[in-house]
Amino acid sequence: TMTEPLLKVRGVETYYGKIIALKGVDLDVHEGEIVTLIGANGAGKSTLMMTVCGSPQARNGSIVYAGEDITTKPTYEIMRTGIAQSPEGRRIFPRMSVLENLMMGGMVAENKYFEDDLKRVFELFPRLKERQHQSGGTLSGGEQQMLAIARALMSRPRLLLLDEPSLGLAPIIVRQIFEAINELNKTDGLTVFLVEQNAYHALKLAHRGYVMVNGVITMTGTGKELLSREEVKAAYLEGG
Ligand code: ATP
Repeated sequence: TMTEPLLKVRGVETYYGKIIALKGVDLDVHEGEIVTLIGANGAGKSTLMMTVCGSPQARNGSIVYAGEDITTKPTYEIMRTGIAQSPEGRRIFPRMSVLENLMMGGMVAENKYFEDDLKRVFELFPRLKERQHQSGGTLSGGEQQMLAIARALMSRPRLLLLDEPSLGLAPIIVRQIFEAINELNKTDGLTVFLVEQNAYHALKLAHRGYVMVNGVITMTGTGKELLSREEVKAAYLEGG
C-alpha cells in the first residue's frame, strides 16, 4: 500500500488575469524524495512552485500538504507548515551580512536550534562560513545561491522547494550545490522539490521527475527513466 504523499497537487489551474498558466496539474512528492520538474522557458514551472506557496493561488484544483488542504491558505501560513522556498533569482538581503541573512531565515528568536542549524549549513557550504561577515550583495552568484538555500534551511523545513538553483552558475558550482542537495536528502532526510532547466543534472539527482509543457504535465517517471527517453533527450538534453 502506498502512503499518502507529503505534497499532493491535483487538477491545479493557475491564472494570471485571464491567461491560464497551469491547466490542471497533478503531481506528488513523497516524504524522503527528491522530485524534479523540468520544462522549457515559460512552461509554468515557477508558477507551480509559487502556487504551492500560495501566491498566486490556484483558481481550481487542490494542494494538500501533510494531510492539510493549503490551496487557499495565505503564504505566511504555508511557510509555517514546514515548507521553505528558495526562489528563482535568489532573493537574499544584499546589505545584510551572510550571518544576518541566515538569522532572518532562522527567525532566530523562535529557533532554539539556531546554533546547530548554523553549524549544519556551514558544514554544507563552507564558503558561507568563511564569508559570514561579508554583505550578501557582494557575494558571487554561486555564493548567493548557496546563501539562498542555506537561508531556506534555517527555518527547519520538512519540504524544501528550489527554483532553478543552477541558473547562470559555472558547472563546478552547480556540482557543489547539487551535492549539497543530495547530502541533505540522504543524511538529513529532507524532502526536496526541484524546478530546473538543467535537466541532465536535475534528473540524475532526482528519484522521480515530471516534464511540463505549456502548463500541463506530459511525462513522469524515475529520473533514470526520463533521462533515457528519446523525447526528453531531444527536447531537454541538447548539449547537456
Ligand atoms: P522559466 O524557466 O523561464 O522561469 P517557467 O517554466 O518557470 O519558465 P513561468 O515563469 O511559470 O514558467 O511562466 C509560465 C507562463 O506564465 C509564461 O507564459 C509567463 O509569461 C506567464 N507569467 C508568469 N508570471 C506572470 C505574471 N506575473 N503575470 C503574467 N503572466 C505571467
